[in-house]
Amino acid sequence: LLRVSGLTKSFGANRVLDGVDFDVRRGEVVALIGPSGSGKTTVLRCLNGLETPDAGLIAFDGGPVIDFARPVSKADRIALRDRSAMVFQHHNLFPHRTVLQNVTEGPIYAHGVPKAEAIARAEALLERVGLADKRDALPFALSGGQQQRVGIVRALALQPSLLLFDEPTSALDPELVGEVLVVLKELADEGWTMVIVTHELAFAREVADEVLFFDDGVILERGAPGEILTDPQHDRTRRFLDRIL
Ligand code: ATP
Repeated sequence: LLRVSGLTKSFGANRVLDGVDFDVRRGEVVALIGPSGSGKTTVLRCLNGLETPDAGLIAFDGGPVIDFARPVSKADRIALRDRSAMVFQHHNLFPHRTVLQNVTEGPIYAHGVPKAEAIARAEALLERVGLADKRDALPFALSGGQQQRVGIVRALALQPSLLLFDEPTSALDPELVGEVLVVLKELADEGWTMVIVTHELAFAREVADEVLFFDDGVILERGAPGEILTDPQHDRTRRFLDRIL
C-alpha cells in the first residue's frame, strides 16, 4: 500500500527521525513499539501530513510519491490527509458536538459527502461498535472507552485506505482497554490496513503482522511479533521488553 523511505525529521537540534524505512502492505497491521521519545508518534504524524519531514519519501501504490527533499505541494498534503485517518491517544472529539456530529463532520466538510449519506454511514458504524444509542450524546456523557470507540468510528467514516492509531488505549482506565482492543482486533480481521503505536505487547503479538522497534529515531529491529517480542536480537530491544512486560 505504501513505502516509507529515508524519513528524517528534526525539531531544532533534536533529530527525532533519522532515516526510517518501512513498507505497509494492504491489509497488514504494523505495530510501532519502543521507548518514549523514540519517534513513533512523529512517524504517524508524517504519514498523516500533520508534520512535514525534512527528507525522505512516502510512496503510495499507484501514486503519489511524495519526496520531502522538494517543497511539499498542496496536492501532496491533500493526498496524505485523505489516504489515512488518525485515532489519537486522547480521542480529540469536539466537546460541544454530539457523537453523530463528531463522526459526520469530516466526511461532510472535508470530503463533500452529502449529509444524508454521511449520517447513514455514521449510524451504521456506531451500530457496529455498540454505540447506536449514543448518537445524540455529547462526548462528556460517555465513558473513556466509549469516547475512544467514537474516535475510531470517526476515523472509519472517512473511509481511508490506512488507519493510524497513536497509543489508542494508553489514556484509558485499565478496565476500559479491552473494549477498545476488541474493536481494533475486529478491524484487523476485516482487512483494514493499520499502523499502530502501542505499548500493549500482548495485543501486538496477537494482531500485528510486523513489529517495528524504534530507538532514538531509527528502526533498530523489525520482524514478526513472535520473533521480536520473544527473541529480540538487540540488547536495547530486550531491555525495553523486560521493562514493560
Ligand atoms: P511517546 O511514546 O512518548 O509518544 P514517541 O516515540 O512517540 O514517544 P515522539 O512523540 O515521536 O516519540 O517524539 C520524539 C521526540 O520529538 C521527542 O523528543 C519529542 O520531545 C520531540 N517532539 C515531538 N514533537 C515535537 C514538536 N512539535 N516540537 C518539538 N519537539 C517535538
